[in-house]
Amino acid sequence: MELRAVKGMNDILPDEAARWQRLEQAFREHVARYGYDEVRTPILEHTALFSRQIGETTDVVEKEMYSFARHGDELTVRPEGTAGAARAYVEHKVHTKEPVSRWSYLGPMFRGERPAKGRYRQFYQAGCELYGDAGPLADAEMIEMILSLLNQGLGIGNIEVRLNSLGAAGTRARYRDALVAYFTPMKDKLSEDSQRRLEKNPLRILDSKDPRDREASKGAPSILELLDEADAAHFAGVRRHLDALDVRYIVDPTLVRGLDYYTRTLFEFVTTSGDLGAQSTVVGGGRYDNMIEGLGGPSVPAIGFAMGIERLLTLMPGEVSRERPAVYVAPLSDACTSRALVLGRDLRARGVRVEVDGRGGRLKAMLRRADALGAKFCVILGDGELERGVASVKDLAGHKQDEVPLADAADVLAARARAEASLPPGEAR
Ligand code: ATP
Ligand code: MG
Repeated sequence: MELRAVKGMNDILPDEAARWQRLEQAFREHVARYGYDEVRTPILEHTALFSRQIGETTDVVEKEMYSFARHGDELTVRPEGTAGAARAYVEHKVHTKEPVSRWSYLGPMFRGERPAKGRYRQFYQAGCELYGDAGPLADAEMIEMILSLLNQGLGIGNIEVRLNSLGAAGTRARYRDALVAYFTPMKDKLSEDSQRRLEKNPLRILDSKDPRDREASKGAPSILELLDEADAAHFAGVRRHLDALDVRYIVDPTLVRGLDYYTRTLFEFVTTSGDLGAQSTVVGGGRYDNMIEGLGGPSVPAIGFAMGIERLLTLMPGEVSRERPAVYVAPLSDACTSRALVLGRDLRARGVRVEVDGRGGRLKAMLRRADALGAKFCVILGDGELERGVASVKDLAGHKQDEVPLADAADVLAARARAEASLPPGEAR
């Protein structure tokens, strides 16, 4: 039997990984300017963490989680990052150490969904969580941070920001009743899932991708009319700050998102480019002011977002090529191999990327290998060079060759590699 990768799980080979690294670096640098530091939590958590926080009647919990029992524990491979981070925040009593915490994370998530372009079973998210700030400034600042990361940091245009408010728990309950009243007369026009969830969690119908549910949702009541005074003031504050920041957004009163933990502000970043088909949402997030308390912690408000890295990579322009060796060392005989290794080590200690040819053979073959790798210089070490205490250095692009004393070779080559690296590509030497 031929063993292949698990369906919906992708290998990222080094040619592609260079683009991933560029995105990850842009993410880390960007959010660091807003005060976010990385947290790393386990990939496995107790199943109850997700089923309680994400919600028993969500698609993620009902159908998508990879859960199993082992050594007496019910475990789940994390489908998202927010619940685990919140669990860690409570477990380590982080609120006693600092009033406001800003955490970022980046890593694989797992959901047993039907694979499609931009939809995988192992996928990667980068996200941020902000704990301890209840005000609308936090919401607006986070939305602006995401938009400038996409636009300036990653060079992705054609992004639409969609915004809604779900209000606090009381509003949710009233909205639930309004939705049950609205959907009940058309119950048999809904998808099977939605019929089943109608009583328990009618908000899910608004988030359904089934065309029958989409059609039925068109005239659904707006939650914005049910917001109480404090919720409405918060939402107005978020919009006012976004206006001040010149962030354009669309208020979408039917935006509810797939996880149950959200309160108040909810947002989504969608590409209008058409490149991702039905998977056009690239970032999702919102407030979850009750989660920390729900996990047994103090009453600490929170807001966060997660972005789908594969989807953003599809939209990110520009090629990113792998780094090439600056120096290729070609030993021409067995006697020269040890000296070649020593030179390689000494160059690397000086910060240079080096490959030492271990396959041997004729000089011509080794020069071809150096060229194929895109090396800048090839150092040729033969018996004659060793006897004279020199190394031959071939400038592969400039087609020049000279000799340098072997004793100084590491310093000389490191200086040449540095000078080369500071030249724009293609510049004549
Ligand atoms: P969708 O509506 O596309 O299923 P979602 O509402 O389930 O997304 P979230 O749980 O909010 O998504 O996750 C945030 C982001 O993570 C999404 O906007 C998307 O970019 C990405 N994402 C979610 N699920 C997947 C997946 N299965 N494969 C790839 N990316 C995903
Ligand atoms: Mg989903």
